Amino acid sequence: MAQLNTIARSGDPILRIIAAEVTNISDDEIQNLIDTLIDTATAVDGVGMAAPQLSHSYRLFVMASRPNSRYPYAPTMEPTAVINPRILSYSKEIVKDWEGCLSVPGIRGKVPRYDRIEVEYCDRNGNLVNQELSGFIARIFQHELDHLDGILFTDRLESDLDRFTEAEYQALISG
Ligand code: ZN
Repeated sequence: MAQLNTIARSGDPILRIIAAEVTNISDDEIQNLIDTLIDTATAVDGVGMAAPQLSHSYRLFVMASRPNSRYPYAPTMEPTAVINPRILSYSKEIVKDWEGCLSVPGIRGKVPRYDRIEVEYCDRNGNLVNQELSGFIARIFQHELDHLDGILFTDRLESDLDRFTEAEYQALISG
């Protein structure tokens, strides 16, 4: 399992490049990477983690939402591998809500995201999946997909007023 200190941090060039399509989903390299992403996201209270965050520049991320100390109100879902993802359509409605990122420690922000998205991706067995996602899960998908395109959530903040420290965030959500 990767440790917290092996997660690439803001400033590392691997977080700023366009990741490569996965062409060999059944290969051990990719299957092991999926397991490591799920184990690491779970161990460090993440709700998702993208391959570039573990310094593997592939179009692959996991969603593993459940309530934890970093996201007390997260919905629970089965950890899901998302490979070569695309967003097919967006809702008109945009919602601003809290995000953080294990690659940008100590910072939280209120980030505008599409409330509903229709997505397509391959699962870890190579099956094409088409889904409509909404709310927090749609937010995770958009955040993680950004990682595959070299974008961090802090790039999406509309104003410095939407940027908070982790301590400010914890005080706001518990108050
Ligand atoms: Zn992130």
